[in-house]
Amino acid sequence: MKESTRTLAPEEEKCIGCRACTSACPEKLITFSEEEKLRSISFPANCSSDCELCALACPEKAISFIFPDEGEKSRVSLESQTLNFELVPCQKCGTAFATRRELEKVRTAISEKIPLPSTGGFWMELCPGCRQAAFREKQAKTIIQARKF
Ligand code: SF4
Ligand code: SF4
Repeated sequence: MKESTRTLAPEEEKCIGCRACTSACPEKLITFSEEEKLRSISFPANCSSDCELCALACPEKAISFIFPDEGEKSRVSLESQTLNFELVPCQKCGTAFATRRELEKVRTAISEKIPLPSTGGFWMELCPGCRQAAFREKQAKTIIQARKF
């Protein structure tokens, strides 16, 4: 790894725990773990100065960089940070599968285009596996109903 020249400064208020930064980092410096109902994203204190892939990949613009001289004046922590997110359980099987903030973001993005039910019955409250199963079940019902006529 190249010389450390700056600090990564993730903003907890903006971060939704989506893991895009963990996938983007070529040095695997940003990591995540999941245990039961908690997802943790760990950001390094420092990283080399010729990359900004994590900041570019972040959909919330939650990552910025603090250079040493700025750091002394800044109130931003210059240490490694771990952000923790509660995972939401699937409404069908109970598996914890996404952070609340991730689901809120998707819900908001979709509701700007189409009206959504205010509570329950929405595919987003299901984990990917149950979502697929529900979709297949719906398709099968449609085919069966079509055969009756
Ligand atoms: S700036 Fe690049 S190397 Fe540093 S943590 Fe982000 S993606 Fe990884
Ligand atoms: S990509 Fe941005 S929003 Fe997603 S986990 Fe990383 S810092 Fe948080």
